[in-house]
Amino acid sequence: MEQVTQQPSAIQQVWNKRPLIISGPCSAETEEQVLATAQRLAATGKVDMLRAGIWKPRTRPGQFEGIGVKGLPWMLQAKKITGLPTTVEVATAKQVEDALNFDVDVLWIGARTTVNPFSVQEVADALRGVDIPVLIKNPINPDLELWTGAVERVAKAGIKNIGLIHRGFSSYGNTEYRNAPMWHLAIEMKRRNPDMMLICDPSHISGRRDILQDISQKSIDLDYDGLIIESHIDPDNAWSDAKQQITPEVLGGMLANITWRKEDVSSEAYHAALEKLRQQINHLDDELMQILGQRMKVAEKIGQYKKDNNITILQTNRWNEILHKAFEKGDKLGLSKEFITRYFDAVHMESINHQNRIMNS
Ligand code: PEP
Ligand code: MN
Repeated sequence: MEQVTQQPSAIQQVWNKRPLIISGPCSAETEEQVLATAQRLAATGKVDMLRAGIWKPRTRPGQFEGIGVKGLPWMLQAKKITGLPTTVEVATAKQVEDALNFDVDVLWIGARTTVNPFSVQEVADALRGVDIPVLIKNPINPDLELWTGAVERVAKAGIKNIGLIHRGFSSYGNTEYRNAPMWHLAIEMKRRNPDMMLICDPSHISGRRDILQDISQKSIDLDYDGLIIESHIDPDNAWSDAKQQITPEVLGGMLANITWRKEDVSSEAYHAALEKLRQQINHLDDELMQILGQRMKVAEKIGQYKKDNNITILQTNRWNEILHKAFEKGDKLGLSKEFITRYFDAVHMESINHQNRIMNS
């Protein structure tokens, strides 16, 4: 007799868990390292899935480029010992085939692959007819269309369970982060795909241990669905990404120190108070829009004046003066310099566009 009600498969249950915590070494190095990491991660009781890079896309040749197929039986063995499902990065059809042959439970597409539609399509084609969840990292460059394109290619291949990993974006001369988080981009991606799981990869955003906890907390505060964090039994001697890895025990402590927030709390008083505050925000946002509209009208008048007197639109001195005053004021109001800069850039651009229209009419 066939069963009428279908139980979710084991991997589906893990996939649906919140927060979903994935951890494991940047790279599988040796059998002992993979097994010991897996066992110590499992012992924390806080990890849901094991990760390891088998094939490593490295920026420069001559670095450790992954142990290759040889590492897949180690992952399978780690799963047998700990009961934790596994995930590995795939970038080619052959890698998909190898991973499937060794019962990898979830595949992920790395940032260096997401940037390349040829590669994403090759992986997607290899996945046709296969029932396996796929995580897709954001592309290295801050381009949501590229990320979206990768999601679409994989979805078109028939993959039902697709998740997003936010691992930050490369930016030239960036120092604080290995990859700048640019949170607003990941949030916009989530807005476009509200039902898709979004997890944060603080390891590749930070590139270093000391801010892993902060970045993780921030993502949880932003209602991310989980974390993927690199862990190694001997972080300093890891064959790749040594500076950002932490031991399983440090990871356990870190996860214990994160404040996990609930999106929904079922207290009426809380909801009523929140509703009131949201109304206030809506009113203030409306007012801001009205004021911005008025500001543009004034900018248009200036545009008319400049046109009549044959003056250029952009007057750098005037702009520097505005920004400088805004920084001072913003500081007193608790508005960060970063926000003021972005806000004024956007307002300025819009203003210039309005003036342009007037001057060329
Ligand atoms: C990784 O997860 O080890 C990795 C290579 O990440 P990314 O694709 O984000 O660089
Ligand atoms: Mn890594």
